[in-house]
Amino acid sequence: MGIRDDWQITEIRAIYDTPLLELIYQAASVHRQHHDPKQIQVCKLISIKTGACPEDCSYCAQSSRYKTEVKPEALLSQETVVSIANDALKSGVSRVCMGAAWREVRDNSQFEQVLDMVKEVTALGLEVCCTLGMLTETQAKRLEDAGLYAYNHNLDTSEEYYSTIITTRTYSDRLNTIANVRQTNVTVCSGGILGLGESVDDRVGMLHTLANLNPHPESVPINILSQVPGTPLENQPDVPIWDVVRMIATARIVMPNSDVRLSAGRARLSQVEQAFCFMAGANSIFSSDDGHMLTVTTPCPGYDSDSEMLNLLGLSKRPSAKVGHTSAVETVNI
Ligand code: SAM
Ligand code: SF4
Repeated sequence: MGIRDDWQITEIRAIYDTPLLELIYQAASVHRQHHDPKQIQVCKLISIKTGACPEDCSYCAQSSRYKTEVKPEALLSQETVVSIANDALKSGVSRVCMGAAWREVRDNSQFEQVLDMVKEVTALGLEVCCTLGMLTETQAKRLEDAGLYAYNHNLDTSEEYYSTIITTRTYSDRLNTIANVRQTNVTVCSGGILGLGESVDDRVGMLHTLANLNPHPESVPINILSQVPGTPLENQPDVPIWDVVRMIATARIVMPNSDVRLSAGRARLSQVEQAFCFMAGANSIFSSDDGHMLTVTTPCPGYDSDSEMLNLLGLSKRPSAKVGHTSAVETVNI
């Protein structure tokens, strides 16, 4: 399967509408042409700066616009972040994602601290991803110099539907940050959320935008809305599993080389449902020490239950792509 960036939206819609088991079979075939189907990357999200975000993303617990259970917290210390990353490494995590509830990065002491965190966690041999809001090209270059592996900046839904979900920024703001990251060798992580009230055309529209980026995002998170009490989307119905499988399979087919990440909302899925997602081409999950959250309010399965599931399914944890992978034990002795 070749890599294309000239998809017609009608082509992607036709893929999405393929009879379900045939779609899964096609996606599983593409997956095997581009990836080791037995490997799943296990990631860990660390919320390094929580809450009090000025943006109004209508799904988000961290927006200061909504009354949610999230209490704003200061930027975590570097020591805390490195310790969490070390524990994650020992549990087979190979990518750590540091999230900050910011609209954009500011050139201040907090950004300097984040750059140091990137350096320290990278030195553990982990792939480090940051998701800090909007970014200038200069800031992207500083993250590159610090050794950043990936930058997450989700499109979340179609351009047409975006302003229904978020009004404090635009779709082109998102695409600009992705373009700024592309001026560096930092890889791009960009995907979206199902369950926002979007139509199938909106889902297909988001994939059309992502799959016509050249190069494709190296990583495409597919989130399932976690309904957060206090947010405008708190009463949205659950997303049917077959919608999740269709989205993953279609993402797999139109972006064959990308990692397709089964992200937020996975805690609600059974092992069988997750197995269907892996068959459809998902090759990454977020995990955590038991009880911790994926995003500050969306629950995340624990390391142990995920290890059991992966063993049961005959899957293994993908090692870090960083050269000179060092183990947590060596670094702990420093
Ligand atoms: N502040 C950063 C930004 O907006 O780009 C990162 C936010 S969060 C750590 C990363 C992603 O998690 C968001 O872009 C969104 O797609 C997803 N997310 C946040 N809240 C969610 C929820 N309640 N349900 C599902 N996905 C969610
Ligand atoms: Fe802020 Fe990001 Fe949440 Fe939007 S998704 S409110 S930008 S933390």
